[in-house]
Amino acid sequence: MAKTVLIVVGHWNIPQITSEGLRSWRDWKTLSRGTGATNEMTFHRDQWMPKLRDRLISAGIQVYIVDAIYHPDTYSRDYDLAILGHYDGGNTQNRCMAAAPLRGMTPPFLFDQAQALSEKFVDIWKKIYPGKTGMIYRPEAVTDGMTQNYAFDYIKEGTPTVLVEHLNISSPEGNKLVNTPDKVADGDFLAICEFLNINPNPVPPASVSLEDKVRAIIYSSDSDSNKIKKLQTILPK
Ligand SMILES: [Zn+2]
Repeated sequence: MAKTVLIVVGHWNIPQITSEGLRSWRDWKTLSRGTGATNEMTFHRDQWMPKLRDRLISAGIQVYIVDAIYHPDTYSRDYDLAILGHYDGGNTQNRCMAAAPLRGMTPPFLFDQAQALSEKFVDIWKKIYPGKTGMIYRPEAVTDGMTQNYAFDYIKEGTPTVLVEHLNISSPEGNKLVNTPDKVADGDFLAICEFLNINPNPVPPASVSLEDKVRAIIYSSDSDSNKIKKLQTILPK
């Protein structure tokens, strides 16, 4: 069965958020103003998401895409991974971060197995993504807003989940990286492939044997003269 990945585009449609799907203590009115860093949403919606989506599809992964607000149909099932795409801003530090949901919430964000897998994904990502992008992994820069992200409320408890901050837009390195979104998508893609134990190179179509090609021509509805012409093109000289 195909592996499934849910791509959550950070901040997309956030002004339309309501209390639906959220823990009761969340302040959805404040959340609705969280439009993100400069161009963060458009970068993730128009560059990162399509590029990551196409890479995943080419590797045989089934992809689901969602904006930043609640959709009961999307969140009524589990996935093999949910990845929430963001970048941050502020000061000029070269950084990237990845965060699994916080342990110990009541009720917990995730079941134990999905929690452990989320943390495993963080370990894989921090090994792969910085090398692909030149960003520096900074676990000390992980915030409560990442580990207790409101969107974790939406995701079913059996889904390994990670929130990634791809870059700091106000750093010179991050400001440069947004112009090469393929690198960002590649970093995530390779981490996802390792996590899901999937070959990142798409499988080439199985080669057709000469015998099968000959048989296909002989038993086709072509005229005999056409069959002979076609056979002459495929048979070794
Ligand atoms: Zn963000």
